[in-house]
Amino acid sequence: MITQKLRKKIYDRDGWQCVACGTPAGLTIQHRKNRQMGGSKSLDIPENLVTMCGAHNQALEMDAEYAEIGRKNGWKLRQWDDPAVIPVRYPDGISWFLTNRFTRRKK
Ligand SMILES: [Zn+2]
Repeated sequence: MITQKLRKKIYDRDGWQCVACGTPAGLTIQHRKNRQMGGSKSLDIPENLVTMCGAHNQALEMDAEYAEIGRKNGWKLRQWDDPAVIPVRYPDGISWFLTNRFTRRKK
């Protein structure tokens, strides 16, 4: 479960913007590795969570072509991927590794 406190820490880390398009509007949390398939709360960890707008969050789930783009950018992972070792591309074009301490490390 994503608490308000956890949500705010993720938004803070990501600069209160969608990692895909940079908008500050309509933000939500994207699970890089899908929670339904992977099980549980163990996926509610900082490395597995990124800030996304509702439209991109939904596109990753509904649109196979966009999901592929999401995988190239590290926004969406396969169930066997380790979120700590696959970087996330941000709107400034820079890819970062996410840490379990709500920080980012340059690729
Ligand atoms: Zn977006």
